[in-house]
Amino acid sequence: MRRMIKSGGDLPSSVSVGPLKRISPSRYFGMVCCSLREVLITNRIEKLLPSSPNIYFGIAAHQFLQEVGLGKITKVKDFENEWLASITEVEKHLLGEMEEYLVPLSKSVSRYELKKRLLFKEASGLIAGGRLEFKNKSTTRIERWFETGDSIVGGYVDKIIFTNSGYEIIDFKTGSIIDNNNLEIKKEYKYQMLLYAALLYENLNEWPLALKIYGFNGAIHSIKYNKDECIKVLNEAKEMFYQINDLILGIDNFFELQKNLANPAPEHCRFCEFRPICNTYWEKREASPHLNWSLDIRGQFESLRTSGNGTYLLKIRSTSNNTYKVRGLKPSRHQIPEGGFFSIYNLSADTNDNCFSEKLLTKIYTKQQGI
Ligand code: SF4
Repeated sequence: MRRMIKSGGDLPSSVSVGPLKRISPSRYFGMVCCSLREVLITNRIEKLLPSSPNIYFGIAAHQFLQEVGLGKITKVKDFENEWLASITEVEKHLLGEMEEYLVPLSKSVSRYELKKRLLFKEASGLIAGGRLEFKNKSTTRIERWFETGDSIVGGYVDKIIFTNSGYEIIDFKTGSIIDNNNLEIKKEYKYQMLLYAALLYENLNEWPLALKIYGFNGAIHSIKYNKDECIKVLNEAKEMFYQINDLILGIDNFFELQKNLANPAPEHCRFCEFRPICNTYWEKREASPHLNWSLDIRGQFESLRTSGNGTYLLKIRSTSNNTYKVRGLKPSRHQIPEGGFFSIYNLSADTNDNCFSEKLLTKIYTKQQGI
């Protein structure tokens, strides 16, 4: 079980990571964006910031859809009870952890009931689809493992349908599939599917007939691919594997390794749970404050007082000599010592300059290492 981290605690002074064992198609694009984050995740380094409750809803939803796909849940009337079992299982893992306060997820996940209804709709479609496949004498495999001959790239395909005309690879996604900036399928999903296609070819000597992503809202997105592109992405993934492992094996010092693996950018770092130990992130954001970074601040303690509503008002002074005020900090969630160096993550912007307030995922650390 993970150690519980209380907001207001210290950070680890160093982190030890080992070489990658393989690259998973579902993590490949993340590795392209920032290798450091993926190395920390695959090394199971304890995350330092809470994840959005939507992530946990997604885990339960994925599990639920798999049960339906496997034929373990066959009746719509059982959905409520089965869903309750899935979400309760996920909540159990949060108890005693940093994110315990997100339980019950029915309260912390935004638009929970709507998301649940969409999930049930998707599951009903799967049951109906399963019957259709049976009539067509196709066979379905859920969660099938594929890997390259050298085991460097490998992962589970959510669902694969074997038909007389060929194979269909299907992946279920519970979040948004389309990139709002260009209205195309998100790159991470596209590369994941291209790698699955290449893996299928390497294992079964046949290219898939179709690559499909099933969305939460019942939408089905087909991904067009060409074989050369799939092979190119697979080769690039292998090359990246060797480059990253050479760095990990060649550099002992974690903060030196960071400089070689980290790739800070607002879109990479916004959801990264390792920002508190990523000096490269802080250096980059302080050198480019005009970019759209997440609302994190750091500085020396200035003062702490309790407001009339019982919450804390904390002031810290940044290295550039700005005073930051953070209102609405709940004493039940944060231990705030007087003095020391603070770094505070996931804040909400207040109406006044340099003023912030607590939100659901706000987290405080009181010691900054290696700056
Ligand atoms: S904070 Fe940014 S640069 Fe650092 S590990 Fe996370 S994603 Fe990478």
